[in-house]
Amino acid sequence: MFSANRRQDGCLSRLHGEAFALAIIMAALASGGCETLDGQPINLLNTQQEIQLGRELADEIEEREEILDDAAVQSYVREIGHRLAQHAHRQDVEYRFTVIDAPDTVNAFALPGGHMYVYTGLMKLCRNEAELAGVMAHEIGHVAARHHGEGITRMYGYSIVMRALLGEDPGTLTRIASQFLGTAGHAYFSRQNEREADQIAAALLWRAGYNPEALLGFMQQLEAYKAERGHTANIPLFATHPPTSERMHLISQYVSRFPREQRAQRPVHADRYHEKALDRL
Ligand SMILES: [Zn+2]
Repeated sequence: MFSANRRQDGCLSRLHGEAFALAIIMAALASGGCETLDGQPINLLNTQQEIQLGRELADEIEEREEILDDAAVQSYVREIGHRLAQHAHRQDVEYRFTVIDAPDTVNAFALPGGHMYVYTGLMKLCRNEAELAGVMAHEIGHVAARHHGEGITRMYGYSIVMRALLGEDPGTLTRIASQFLGTAGHAYFSRQNEREADQIAAALLWRAGYNPEALLGFMQQLEAYKAERGHTANIPLFATHPPTSERMHLISQYVSRFPREQRAQRPVHADRYHEKALDRL
């Protein structure tokens, strides 16, 4: 039996079984949601709410982080992002890409609504454009699959997020922004979310003309970096993701769905990456 506390318009308490579950899901989709189902938030933010939340968080983040002052690198990364995002199944948000100047921080994250930030420390770890595209495609995957709304409301509760959106609780926005800047930003996502983002990433890479094996190439770089730097490494990215070996195994499976010979012919754009990014960082 399901039960739920009544708290949002449209949320009914004490309905039973599938009818209840369906009612909750329909209400969540229609209005942005109800709060709990056996204590577990299941709300999704609607697209407008995601976009608004993303905009507010982007303002916080851009105030706190140093945006890379190099228009050519910004434009290059933007081009890679748009090449990938045009193939995403979700097109009701605007995908935006910004490079943050922090050479010792290996991080990248997307916000609800489509803003994405890539750190120069992560770019320096990539050996070619395809590897950077792999990380970006993973983050686009989280946006496209609407993981943010689900994760943020799971963590904070729908009503708290709504109050923040209404400007009644700026502290919550600051907290969420801080989480994206540290390791906790990735804690919004479940393991299932991560697998889904990897799966979408492989497909986006393929459609955008890259070899999806680049995802594995980046993971290897990350492992080598961790081994070399040990505890001194500042790697918010993937800090809370499933263990790398498990991810790599699954990514290999996703990649193997694309024809091997065609994969091998796809360029990784190492020279272009050096010229347009690495040599300038
Ligand atoms: Zn992820």
